[in-house]
Amino acid sequence: MTCPFLKEAQVKYCQTSSVRKLIPIAAAGRADDKCSSQEHLTCPVYRMQSAEPSVSGHCPYLGESLMQYCGAAPVAKMIPYSESQISRCGCDRFRYCELYLSMAHPGVPADDVDGIPLPEWLRYSANHMWLDIGEDGVCHAGIDAFLSRALGQAERISYVWQRGQHRATAVVTVNGVDHEIVFPNPFLLTSCNLYLRADPSRLSAEPYTGGWLFEGVPAPETSENLLQGAAARQWMEREQHRINEFLQQQPAAHGPLAADGGLFAPGLSQNLDHDQMLALFHTFFSPYASEKRYT
Ligand code: SF4
Repeated sequence: MTCPFLKEAQVKYCQTSSVRKLIPIAAAGRADDKCSSQEHLTCPVYRMQSAEPSVSGHCPYLGESLMQYCGAAPVAKMIPYSESQISRCGCDRFRYCELYLSMAHPGVPADDVDGIPLPEWLRYSANHMWLDIGEDGVCHAGIDAFLSRALGQAERISYVWQRGQHRATAVVTVNGVDHEIVFPNPFLLTSCNLYLRADPSRLSAEPYTGGWLFEGVPAPETSENLLQGAAARQWMEREQHRINEFLQQQPAAHGPLAADGGLFAPGLSQNLDHDQMLALFHTFFSPYASEKRYT
C-alpha cells in the first residue's frame, strides 16, 4: 500500500546542469520554455557544449523522467522512484508520517472492547503496548487505549534510547511523576516519535496513530508472547475486570475512579494518591506484566 498523497509527474531537466532543476511537464511548454524549442540555441549553457543541434527542435541535453512527489507538502518535493521504495511514502509506513496524519486525520479505529479501542490488526503485550509490523519489515510500537486512558494528559515524554538494539523505553511524566513505558521484547530501534516531545497530548489522544512511540526493525523474538485477534479481545475483557477489582480495593482517592458504562475514569492515575498510582503501574503497565501468561 502506498500513501494516498504520493503523486506522479513526468518531469524535464537539464542534463548538463550541476544542480538538477526539475520542471513538471505540465509546467513545460510555456512561452518561456526555451529547452523544448529552437530557443535553446540562445541558451548560454547549451552554447558551451559541443552537441550538434537536434532535428526535433528540442535541446539535446533536455532529459525526461517520471518522478513522484508528496501532494500533501506545501512545496512539492520530487522523490525518485528508487527512493520512494525505501521511504515511508511507498509502503504502509505512510500511516505514521506526520504530514499524512495532519492532512488525512485518520479517525479512531472501529474495533473496540467495551469502549476501549483495540485495532484488530495490531499485536498487544501484557503491559498494554501495541506492535505493528508492516509489509516492508519495519515495525512501530506505542501504548494501547487502555494505558492511554489510565494515564490521561502527559506533561513530558523523553526517550531512553533513540537507536540501537533495545527494549525500547520512553519516560512519560504525568502529574509530576515519571513512568517508564517499556516495550517488553527487543528490536532494532531506528527512530522515535520526537513530535511527541513538543505535543505530549497526542500520546493519549491518538495512541494508535500520531501517538506512536518507536520505529524499528523487528527480530523473531519481538513478537513473542504478544496477543492478537480474538485472544487480544478476551485479554482486554479480563483486564477491564481486573482493573475494576483493583480500584474497588483502593481506599478514598482524590477523584472519581469509575466512569459511566463500567469503564474506569479517564486520567485515572491522576485521581490516585502516589502509592496507589505506583501500585497501578506496577500491576498493569510494568514490563514485568509481560511475563504473565494469558490463556
Ligand atoms: S511525505 Fe508523508 S504524506 Fe507525503 S507522500 Fe510521503 S508518506 Fe505521504
